[in-house]
Parts: sequence; structure tokens; C-alpha cells
Amino acid sequence: MTLVVAIDGPAASGKGTLARRIARHFGLPYLDTGKLYRAVGRKVLDAGDAPADEAAALAAARALRPSDLDRADLRAPDADKAASEVAAIASVRAALIDFQRNFAAQGGVLDGRDIGTVIFPSAPVKLFITASLEARAARRYHERQARHETVTLAEVEADMRRRDALDATRAAAPLRPAPDAVIIDTTSLDPDAVFARAASLIEAAF
Ligand code: C5P
Repeated sequence: MTLVVAIDGPAASGKGTLARRIARHFGLPYLDTGKLYRAVGRKVLDAGDAPADEAAALAAARALRPSDLDRADLRAPDADKAASEVAAIASVRAALIDFQRNFAAQGGVLDGRDIGTVIFPSAPVKLFITASLEARAARRYHERQARHETVTLAEVEADMRRRDALDATRAAAPLRPAPDAVIIDTTSLDPDAVFARAASLIEAAF
């Protein structure tokens, strides 16, 4: 059995923190698939095109190189917006499937929105990490403050609400838990408790 751990959930749910820790603990490679969509969005913006322009976004997705995932500007607010726009385009998502499947062909931890539903529907462990909008917005707000960005909590929350709605209602791979995913709500759980829960599920599965 290939050791694939599929972790999905909305922004700032704690899925990235958990995924990195699981990968380290179990000695597996880790892919933050949000970076793929961020990097595609970034390339489209660099070319002066609109992220919702399918031809431009598809060309950027096809031209994506692993080094594009190392760019320092993938977390900027304009990249958030561009990522969720290119991610709503079915052909862009299709163009990124092979990269993700090849990455974990020998096992790995991937986090995103559709790992358990589309990319690895037969992953032996599927986790859906979530938290209240208020808790997630507060986490993202503190991250932005730590980066000395000028932003209010209300702006972060409104932006997150908009992106959540786009991710959950799009026709192509909408954000939703796989039927066999274990849902972990991190609103009032600390990262150690989330990790302990996930690690015991992974140990039981493998
Ligand atoms: O996880 P992150 O916030 O970095 O993802 C950025 C955007 O990329 C998300 O808002 C979502 O629209 C999109 N995404 C996706 N499918 C994934 C990962 C990210 O649609 N597997």
C-alpha cells in the first residue's frame, strides 16, 4: 500500500502545519498543493493577464516548473485572489493532476482542497481539517501582522469568506470532505492535539 496521506480543508484551518509535521514524523515528502495554484496565478499576473482568463491560466499551468513553487511572493494577497480564480477553471486543475500524482507515486503527504476527492481518491488516510471562519480569520490576521502587512481583521475575514465561498461552490472540484475522510475541527484544538489525533489514524492505517 502506498503511504499517501490526503489532507484537505479551507484556508488557515491548520492543515499546512499538520501536513508538514506528519511528513517530518513519518519521513514522507510533502506537497502544499495551494502553491501550484498560487504559482499559476502569479505567472498569469506577471504576463499582465487576468487570472479568470482560461487561455492565459491554462498556458501558465502547462508551463509550470517546480522552481516556480519556490517564489517568495506566493503568499501576497494578490496571489491569494489569483490562486482562487485560476483554481476555479477545470482545465487548469486537469493540467496540474499529473504533477500531484507523480509527486506522491512512492508515498507522500499532500494538502489542498481536492486531494481526497480527486487527486488521490483511494488514499488510505484522508483528513479534512476545518475550523470556524472567525478562528481561521484570526489566525491569518496574526500571520499578516507578523509580516507587518497593513490589514484589519474585518478585511481578512471578508476576504476569507469570499474565497471559501468560491472554493465551495465552484463546479470543478469544489471544497468538500471525501465521504471517507475523518473530519477534525481545530477551532479549539491546539496543534499538538491535532497531530496526536492524525498520527494515531495514520499508524492504524499503515
Ligand atoms: O491552500 P492555499 O490557501 O494556499 O490555496 C490557495 C487557493 O488555491 C485556494 O483558495 C483554492 O482556491 C486553491 N486550491 C485548490 N485546490 C487545491 C489547493 C488550493 O483549489 N488542492
